[in-house]
Amino acid sequence: MSDNMTSTIKIEKAANSKINKVDFNNLAFGHVFTDHMFECDFINGEWVNPQVVPYQPLTLDPSAKVFHYGQAVFEGMKAYRDDEDKIWLFRPEDNLNRINISSKRLAIPEFPKDIFFEGLTQLLKLDEAWIKKGYGNSLYIRPVVFATESGVSASPSNRYKFLIICSPAQSYYGGEVRVKIENHYSRSADGGFGYAKAAGNYAGQFYPTKLAQDEGYQQVIWTDASTHKYLEEAGTMNVFFRINDTLYTAPTGERILDGITRKSIIAMAEELSIPVDVRPVRVEEVIEAANNGTLKEIFGAGTAAVINPIVGFGYKDQKWELPKLENPYSSTIKKAITDIQYNKAKDPYGWRYEVK
Ligand SMILES: *Cc1c(COP(=O)(O)O)cnc(C)c1O
Repeated sequence: MSDNMTSTIKIEKAANSKINKVDFNNLAFGHVFTDHMFECDFINGEWVNPQVVPYQPLTLDPSAKVFHYGQAVFEGMKAYRDDEDKIWLFRPEDNLNRINISSKRLAIPEFPKDIFFEGLTQLLKLDEAWIKKGYGNSLYIRPVVFATESGVSASPSNRYKFLIICSPAQSYYGGEVRVKIENHYSRSADGGFGYAKAAGNYAGQFYPTKLAQDEGYQQVIWTDASTHKYLEEAGTMNVFFRINDTLYTAPTGERILDGITRKSIIAMAEELSIPVDVRPVRVEEVIEAANNGTLKEIFGAGTAAVINPIVGFGYKDQKWELPKLENPYSSTIKKAITDIQYNKAKDPYGWRYEVK
């Protein structure tokens, strides 16, 4: 970023760091936050007052529109420290582009690229000590934008706040994951906003996911809203199926979020000569493959875990377990992607972005 941009971001340092109180070997995902946060407000038609300040609670009017109408979108990204203490982001421009795509759908003003990168850079430099070395360690970065105008009239807000908060993370392992193929509830629909990383998409998932958890599953695989015949996403991740030696995943579109991990997996699979077929995947063909032994893997794809292997699934009253493979695609591809993230491998795609 250009040096003169730096002067536009005001910086207020925290008096004390909390870092010594944090047990970095025992981090639950997304519970501890770093010393600082970035904020910027949309007032009178422009984004103003970008600043990095101590992490702190906000004061909002009880009638702030975000509480009543859910006008909020967010992002999830990570920073990594390599062996030489350089700090890297992974395809951050895609996160910025996507938050603006999400914002547009929720009638939220787009956020400027230069302020995003400058604010994020200043924040990460201040909180650099929170990004720990070593495979699996990272800093989870959560940009979020929401409506702050007071008043309960049902119309888009004319004020917004853009925040970036950060939480140290360890390699993510949530135990064995079994998924329920959902044939009633839907996450998204044609003409809806399933492609947006909108807060409301998550709120709408919690109840059906809880019902699946009550049945002994950890997650839901969402099917298309109109026929429930096509497999779309696994919880809040994109989803891949390996039948024989080919990987299948649904094309993104209005109902399916364009995951950065998903498209990195597709590129990496091609690099590794793993055949990938991007096309609608039918529930029926996956069940048939499970029955005849050709279904070898299912995995979710998202920033938090990169790849989250799924060990079994259920549909209506039946359950299936997947085979335990020696060298699953999920491990090979995950390693290839994380090696790029941690600057352990060449980056022919230009996915890495150094924070300096
Ligand atoms: C965030 C998200 C993903 C994964 O996107 P990444 O860019 O890979 O982190 C997939 N599906 C949904 C619904 C999401 O919200």
